[in-house]
Amino acid sequence: MHELKQVMKDAGLVGDGGAGFPSYAKLAEGADTLLINGSECEPLLYTDYMLMKRELPMILAGIQSVIWSLRIKRALFCVKEHTAKRLSLSEGDQLSAGVFVKVMPNVYPIGDEISLIYQATGRLVKPGSLPISKGVLVYNVETMYNLGRAVKYFEPVTMKWLTVGGDVKEPRVVRVPIGTPVADLFERLGIEVDEDHAVIDGGPSMGKIINHNIAEVGKTTKALLVLPKNTRAVESKLINKKMAVTRAETACCQCTRCTDLCPRALLGYPLEPHKMVRTAMGAAVAMPEMVLSATLCCGCGICENLACSQGISPRAVINNYKELLAKNKLRYVGNEEVSPKEEREYRMIPSKKWAQDLGIDRFDLVAVWGGEIRDFDRVELALGRYIGIPSAPAVRDGAIVQVGDIVASASAGLSIPQHASIHGRVTVTDKKIIIDRVV
Ligand code: SF4
Ligand code: SF4
Repeated sequence: MHELKQVMKDAGLVGDGGAGFPSYAKLAEGADTLLINGSECEPLLYTDYMLMKRELPMILAGIQSVIWSLRIKRALFCVKEHTAKRLSLSEGDQLSAGVFVKVMPNVYPIGDEISLIYQATGRLVKPGSLPISKGVLVYNVETMYNLGRAVKYFEPVTMKWLTVGGDVKEPRVVRVPIGTPVADLFERLGIEVDEDHAVIDGGPSMGKIINHNIAEVGKTTKALLVLPKNTRAVESKLINKKMAVTRAETACCQCTRCTDLCPRALLGYPLEPHKMVRTAMGAAVAMPEMVLSATLCCGCGICENLACSQGISPRAVINNYKELLAKNKLRYVGNEEVSPKEEREYRMIPSKKWAQDLGIDRFDLVAVWGGEIRDFDRVELALGRYIGIPSAPAVRDGAIVQVGDIVASASAGLSIPQHASIHGRVTVTDKKIIIDRVV
């Protein structure tokens, strides 16, 4: 296991599903089941689908290295029904030794790690515990693809697969160097963004609005979505945090609908968004332990975009607490077994309905393959765009680097190295390593 951990760390692997947790730190003894998360549960995202369609053997190479290293009994390749159909996969199909297809329902947010584990294995991780406590490891398909390349070719992560979609002529999945300026990519793809549109890095619900004129593609960029500002998906992100908390303090009627539909609450987790809203109304003093349950929220946004008819965002209240708790290194720690509520079965949100609720269903066209585009003139590699301690520059201003060279080393603690994604001359800043192509 230690060798594989080192390979993962040296290659700079982080979770490609969105959060960016260094992959090596997840690898642990004691797992009997490996879950490959290809559920891609947010609408408009086709990155994992395209990767599975084009690069299944490389993904399986990565999976086999984990199975072999940890002596894992079985790996379940989790894909939603509609993706399985598009890829002609069926429940139980064997893809390679010990690797079987697991078809997941077309519901949101089935890609959430805790929901995925329960749906695929019937095991429910205790609130505040890690998947390994139930003998499960979860990796995204792209992480396994990157591991496959690292194991087979000793290749570090320098390229990113992502969907460029939304209100564009033709949604595409492309593979580009990490650090590619979003503006340069859009120019190459002929995409213009007017003032009525916003650009989201990530899924329409869990992603973040970025300034596409200065942002770059990072290791966690699963998608770049151009969406009208008057869609629910964007509007909910444009409300500032203070306003959201103030609204929660004044307008909540405590109907409990947000809790009734919360996927974590439906799994039996002690997370009750309606009570979290009540804490914003002043009850936090009386219920300080309640605040800790904010760390059990997966950030799906169902409470905000679907459940609440008062225009309140329990998610914003919870995010506010999450930030405060993270600053103080506090989180929910419990040891209680929980069980799903009976009503979970019929309260899960169909994927199509979720896209309608976000006001973006008309943009949900299956993306086509847009190819690999490598010849950008500049890349900007952020030193800390993942969970952990930022990497430390390992090159000097003016140095010439080749693709794959280490430009920043892993710091002490939870950290990864960064690698040049184009050939060129380096400029070092306090937050980034910039590389300008040299011909
Ligand atoms: S759904 Fe809205 S109004 Fe109802 S309890 Fe939740 S935040 Fe309050
Ligand atoms: S965002 Fe809302 S609905 Fe989703 S897990 Fe958090 S509290 Fe529950």
